[in-house]
Amino acid sequence: MTMGPNEELLNYIGGSWRRAGADAWQDVLNPATAEVVAKVPLSEASDVDDAVRAAVDGHRAWRDVPVVERVQPLYRLKALLEEDLDDLARTITVECGKTLAESKGELQRGIENVEVACGMPSLMQGWNNEDIARGIDEHVFRQPLGVVAAITPFNFPGMIPLWFLPYAVATGNAFVLKPSERVPMTTQALFRLIERAGFPPGVLSLVNGGKAAVDAILDHPDVKAVSFVGSTPVARYIYARATANGKRAQCQGGAKNPAVILPDADMDLSTRILADSAFGCAGQRCLATSVAITVGDADGPFKERIVEDAHTRKVGYGLADGVQMGPVISATSRQRISDLVDQGVKDGGNLLVDGRERPMEDAAFRNGFFVHPTVVDGVAPSSTLAETEVFGPVLSIMHARDLDEALALANDRAFGNQACIFTSSGAAARAFRRRVRAGNVGVNLGVAAPMAFFPFSGWGDSFFGDLHAQSRHGVEFYTQTKVVIERWPATWSRQF
Ligand code: NAD
Repeated sequence: MTMGPNEELLNYIGGSWRRAGADAWQDVLNPATAEVVAKVPLSEASDVDDAVRAAVDGHRAWRDVPVVERVQPLYRLKALLEEDLDDLARTITVECGKTLAESKGELQRGIENVEVACGMPSLMQGWNNEDIARGIDEHVFRQPLGVVAAITPFNFPGMIPLWFLPYAVATGNAFVLKPSERVPMTTQALFRLIERAGFPPGVLSLVNGGKAAVDAILDHPDVKAVSFVGSTPVARYIYARATANGKRAQCQGGAKNPAVILPDADMDLSTRILADSAFGCAGQRCLATSVAITVGDADGPFKERIVEDAHTRKVGYGLADGVQMGPVISATSRQRISDLVDQGVKDGGNLLVDGRERPMEDAAFRNGFFVHPTVVDGVAPSSTLAETEVFGPVLSIMHARDLDEALALANDRAFGNQACIFTSSGAAARAFRRRVRAGNVGVNLGVAAPMAFFPFSGWGDSFFGDLHAQSRHGVEFYTQTKVVIERWPATWSRQF
């Protein structure tokens, strides 16, 4: 796609591209250079209403299309996503900052959700009993809700919309997407492919914008369900407002993920995995490890290795060869990260590596929003740095005498997105996985991202709702069950 300061993005409503009615526009920046790469409209309630009306019409016909036919455009979408993977990945890197390999990786995880949703003829089957009483049968059918919407964050523009979209439409709903206004170009490119995949008009719509568009979705009586991924305060707000308006809601929030390192872990491998978890995607993953808890003698060897990794990780433009980590999303975010590190030091932390004031060698990227890997040791468990989501390449280290103490530290937080353990002991790993309070658990893994055929199971302040994204949870979220009890007395027709 073309990119430039004058590239004005469009909404996709009722099967055609439309300019938003909005007067307000926002610049989309390349975080590696701070250059404007496009302008995104901040759509208003009337734009959302247009999209929802088109979706209501689209749904009316779509729900009667047999599920085996409904999945056919998804098969085509998978092929198109694969054909366009390189271009899409470049777009993600340009607007989001991550490396090209990371962009390709997230697209792959998105495509896997399209693949799973192609199995909808089996996934949305109901169940039944013949003869619940003599001559009476009872069935459960799954039916779509109608128009459903998703509101997505900046950090995975290629993957997160696909946590929802394929399941929503394969189950027979019409779907409206409001992507992050900070990374709208990837979605624009995705919808160019959706247009070619052959979904009927109104089945899939795109509305760009910010809070006004979100509020219009939350208040629209024809939107029956809302999926959200983003920060915890917004997740909490969206869950409250959507459910108060009678909608189903599944809202994934922020995170503060601990990882416990036992002395019997393979220290080289564990540190490599943990460094990728803490610093990969510039720490802007909801599954990034943010707090490393060393147990006993693991402390010294782990610190030595993580400090070495933090110093040597190659930071730069995500499109350049060999770069391992890109910038964070904005100047505001960089400042927030820096302030949190300052606070951590004020609260007694010891800066082992300070990556905040390292100018980029290449002058082309001096204005970019770069923060190099940063490591703070001895972070107090109740300090701001220990409790706040940083969403940047900052690893805090705490120390515990034994696994019990490590578990107490790991569980001492409101978030529950992920927890990991590094060990060669099956018994320790089992105790950890049973007792830790997190919905996604990794054993000798740093990013325990559930595959598309498992639910993305955040707990605590990382999730508001009942049914998670992906897999069977997605199918249940986007369908309502209908129970039919039927009697066909033989005397009413011929005898059988
Ligand atoms: P964000 O909460 O700022 O924005 C997410 C979406 O909400 C965007 O589409 C935005 O336009 C909208 N929004 C923002 N403020 C709003 C408001 N006041 N009212 C209504 N809508 C509003 O999140 P972000 O900065 O784009 O993304 C990063 C956050 O997302 C981090 O906290 C990260 O942990 C979280 N995240 C969570 C998961 C998960 O699976 N739990 C996955 C990815 C990201």
